[in-house]
Amino acid sequence: MKLYSTNNRDLKVDFQSAVFNSMPQDKGLYMPVIIPVLDNEFLQHLDQYTLPEIAYTIASALLQDDIPADDLKAIIEDAINFNAPVKQLNEKTYVLELFHGPSLAFKDFGARFMSRIMAYFLKDNEKMLDVLVATSGDTGGAVALGFLGVPNTRVTILYPKGKVSDIQELQLCSNGENIRAIEIDGTFDDCQHLVKQAFADEELNAVLRLTSANSINISRLIPQTFYYFNAVAQLYRAGKRKVVFSVPSGNFGNIGAGLLAYKMGLPVAKFIAATNANDTVPRFMESGVYETRPSVQTYANAMDVGAPSNWVRIMDMFEGDRDQLAQIVKSYRYTDEETVGAIAEIYKQFNYVACPHTAIAWLAVQDYQKQYSSADDTFVFLSTAHPCKFPDVFTEEIGAEIVIPSQVEVLKSKVKQATSMQFDFEDFKHFLLASN
Ligand SMILES: *Cc1c(COP(=O)(O)O)cnc(C)c1O
Repeated sequence: MKLYSTNNRDLKVDFQSAVFNSMPQDKGLYMPVIIPVLDNEFLQHLDQYTLPEIAYTIASALLQDDIPADDLKAIIEDAINFNAPVKQLNEKTYVLELFHGPSLAFKDFGARFMSRIMAYFLKDNEKMLDVLVATSGDTGGAVALGFLGVPNTRVTILYPKGKVSDIQELQLCSNGENIRAIEIDGTFDDCQHLVKQAFADEELNAVLRLTSANSINISRLIPQTFYYFNAVAQLYRAGKRKVVFSVPSGNFGNIGAGLLAYKMGLPVAKFIAATNANDTVPRFMESGVYETRPSVQTYANAMDVGAPSNWVRIMDMFEGDRDQLAQIVKSYRYTDEETVGAIAEIYKQFNYVACPHTAIAWLAVQDYQKQYSSADDTFVFLSTAHPCKFPDVFTEEIGAEIVIPSQVEVLKSKVKQATSMQFDFEDFKHFLLASN
């Protein structure tokens, strides 16, 4: 697989370089030079394939001969060792549950695949890979649990003190082995700043082999295409063939993967991009003006992004043409008040508890239906996290209905282990060098 930079089509790198560099020097993003269209026989008969089979077909079409078939199959089976079921709520509406992995969020797909790809390319005698990651909550847990026990790697997670939920904090801080957590007396932006500064620091880079595990890494995007095809497969089995996906979006990696899947031939009628008050994309779709803004805090905090980092990838797939994009993507935005109202409504109508991000995707389905009703549409909204990760947004009655999964029961016996630190780069640098 060859990849180019969205800032320079002439710059071409192989898959392994794109995985370890994460981002080209020119600050573009890596995209595949060729987006393969899958075989029509396969697409028409998706219902005959399992998730690992679908995943392998997609990954091998993209990667070509970067990884031999048996090795790639083994990576997929190890990484995607949980399900992504669609559950029917009513005649036309399904929820795609992406939270059955170890950290209870869809980011497990990307983080687990990436960690195994990196481990695969690391030679045994090579220098240990130091993975740095800043998190506002969900990314850290997925990356920590994705890399836990992966040989020749060490992960350092920075998170803002007091700003992640208890479950999220334990997911970050109770692993031991090759995973360490630092709680920064500051904001998520401060954490991200420290990580960026570390990557730019010559002395650190001379001593450590640093890499990033953030959502722009191409090896996180690829596995997120798997569940779109697998969802269509499940709907085919239910006799539904015209699917509209609604995707709760922040950095637009998840819907970006959906659109990559579409370019690979995913049979889909439309995508809906659903955001919270951080509505850079809905405003762009309305006005044609792409204007980023500082992020504002909402209940759906994993989507509090004012400048979605994957947007350039989406624009690149649609030649920068809003009208072309608007043929396949519609977008809507929601306030916190509407989000809380939707959680109550989903519970009332379906006896189903949705996390705030998921509730926003459901709201967008309602608005889309009002605007573009078509009798044979089937709606699938993506549930990106288990509701137990966001206990503060639920009323007592709804909160009491949440079934705590085994992944959380296990956490209860664990103790938090984190290094506390001020927002100070010299302290962070000293920590990294001292532990070398
Ligand atoms: C990260 C995240 C999102 C946003 O996904 P993007 O790929 O950044 O658009 C939505 N919901 C949850 C629960 C998340 O953790």
